Amino acid sequence: MERFIRIYSLLHSAYGPQGWWPLTPPGSTRTKHHSGRPMNDTHRFEIMLGAILTQNTAWTNVEKALEQLHKNKLVRHDRILKAKKERIAQLIRSAGYYNQKAERLVIISKFIRDNTIRSLMARDAADLRKMLLEVKGIGPETADSIVLYAFGKPSFVIDAYTKRVFSRIGICAADAEYDALKEIFEKNIKKDAVVYKEYHALIVEHAKRHCKAKPECEGCPISKLCEKII
Ligand code: SF4
Repeated sequence: MERFIRIYSLLHSAYGPQGWWPLTPPGSTRTKHHSGRPMNDTHRFEIMLGAILTQNTAWTNVEKALEQLHKNKLVRHDRILKAKKERIAQLIRSAGYYNQKAERLVIISKFIRDNTIRSLMARDAADLRKMLLEVKGIGPETADSIVLYAFGKPSFVIDAYTKRVFSRIGICAADAEYDALKEIFEKNIKKDAVVYKEYHALIVEHAKRHCKAKPECEGCPISKLCEKII
């Protein structure tokens, strides 16, 4: 447990608070970084859309897609359900796999119509995650991102960056199973959504700045804890 806390603390000192998930302020169509937690149901729904749009693509491409959806007043489940799927696909082109993702945006919109955000808020993290995993097109990473960032419930998000950094550190295998690595994190850090959000975002930042595909270990804030260079 101590190792996980030290890694968090060193990353936080090096990179500062990350404030994920980027959200669109009222009256704007562009997401803003370091925006903090969702303030309303529109923000929660925007995070759901973003979690789907970011599958297999960089966040910069998602921002463009979300901007188009905002400009066309489509960051609402009822409006997505009224729009033509082809139109949605064209608006989110920048995010790639746009036909498949348009279908998934429609599916999550139906899910919200049938369940309501209020009733989902009343569920605990495990229950909500289970429900989301039953929705077509939502895998573990997308489900955890929604549970954690949209609903503020503690469910640790694992992604390719997490596997890369923590396998190099020596905590898991490079091909560790999603749920096994999630369990390791959840056993070793405080069960707190704020900590989970920051920890995940700090890992992403670290993977972009130092622990890249070809690591740049010089100046790495956690090099002393990393088995790769011991
Ligand atoms: S020392 Fe190198 S391999 Fe280890 S975490 Fe830092 S950047 Fe990654």
